[in-house]
Amino acid sequence: MPAFMEPFRIKSVEPIPFPTAGQRRTALVDAGHNLFRVPSRAITIDLLTDSGTNAMSAAQWAALVSGDESYAGATSFEHFQTVVRDLTGFDEVIPVHQGRAAERILLGELLGPGHFSISNTHFDTTRAAIESKGASAVDLPVDQTSSAFGGDIDPGRLSEWLSGTQAHRVRCVVLTITNNASGGQPVSLANVGVVRELCDRHQVMLLLDASRFAENAYLISERDPGQSGRSPREIAQAVFSLADGCWASLKKDGIANIGGMIALRDPDLARRCRQQLIAFEGFPTYGGLAGRDLEALAQGLLEVTDPAYLRYRASTARWFGEQLADAGLPVLQPTGCHAVYVDAAELLPHIRPEQLPATALANELYLSGAVRVSDLGTLAFGRVDPHGGVDIAAPRELVRFALPRRVYTKSHLEYVSEVAAGVAAKAAQIPGYRIVEQESALRHFTAALMPLV
Ligand SMILES: *Cc1c(COP(=O)(O)O)cnc(C)c1O
Repeated sequence: MPAFMEPFRIKSVEPIPFPTAGQRRTALVDAGHNLFRVPSRAITIDLLTDSGTNAMSAAQWAALVSGDESYAGATSFEHFQTVVRDLTGFDEVIPVHQGRAAERILLGELLGPGHFSISNTHFDTTRAAIESKGASAVDLPVDQTSSAFGGDIDPGRLSEWLSGTQAHRVRCVVLTITNNASGGQPVSLANVGVVRELCDRHQVMLLLDASRFAENAYLISERDPGQSGRSPREIAQAVFSLADGCWASLKKDGIANIGGMIALRDPDLARRCRQQLIAFEGFPTYGGLAGRDLEALAQGLLEVTDPAYLRYRASTARWFGEQLADAGLPVLQPTGCHAVYVDAAELLPHIRPEQLPATALANELYLSGAVRVSDLGTLAFGRVDPHGGVDIAAPRELVRFALPRRVYTKSHLEYVSEVAAGVAAKAAQIPGYRIVEQESALRHFTAALMPLV
């Protein structure tokens, strides 16, 4: 097989819009200069997120028709359960409508005021679920530059936590695979093994946020010489075998548009989760999803570990990262699978953090070519200074070019690279922004901004 070629052909297509420069300018002004508020009909290439934006296969579309919409005991649930059990080895399978519902239910059962969850890095919705229970989320990532596995948790600091004065309050260790916050870097099998031993020694649960379990497994097969002979599916199974349970947003590696799950070993914990599920999501054999969604997910979970698909996915990110670097953007290396990250602060040194360099770069990509990317800088992760001074900056000013699964071809990404080259060439003229309206929480979704010109 060629090193890098889409391992599928296309049988259903959708036209994409090509707004003019004037239409792009109007759309951005109407959106308060916030890309979340720009309608998709004004976007040519949409790399905002890889969540729920995936293209389903012919087999998944076919599976939809066989969805069993019975309220209780649907065969679609049995099918989904069989696939998840075979993949994870966890017997207790609970469907939910998306990842954050899984987090609210499972972490809500485990954690209460004064408790701790420790992680390589909690995803933002995971942290929100923990903090809403009065518990605390502690992130202990490794120093990212130190290894091929920049997603690992720091075992030394974890060990200190688990034997420290607060140890009795730690309810779970959560490994987010891949580690979204560190640029989609993988967690190594060795790291999961060390964490398992620590959790055994200190009697703490080990859970996986397995939203990108297949991409994590593939990156292990590429980067760990000891695992290169195993298939991504075998590696994923080895990782699951070390944990007590997992949850996942199946809008990622389920290769579908909606869905999530909890999968556990402990029947008693599962029983408690199902009580919450019934109250807030739906009966345990559908959990807020339609029977057809469960069929599409079952099929997606079989397809996602295909080595040809995963090789294509990782090499797309690598190639696209090279293209963007050639275009003059500072690209974070090594690339993972689900996105390419660019350092906007390095490209735009004339824009101070409180003038939102990541927003400035993202908006310029839109104005230049109707490309939408996401802004992971001070607008998203900074905080308003309680004393009325300039905003407290985010640790990094990153822009993420996310890669929806099986949606865009190489020529679409070539177009994005051309747009990026034009933007990089005029970097010195790109203006910063100021916030004119914002909510107190999750402000980036709704804020209105003005360029500083
Ligand atoms: C997307 C995501 C979630 C939240 O899932 P939703 O389906 O968006 O609710 C949790 N953890 C990780 C790692 C994710 O990527």
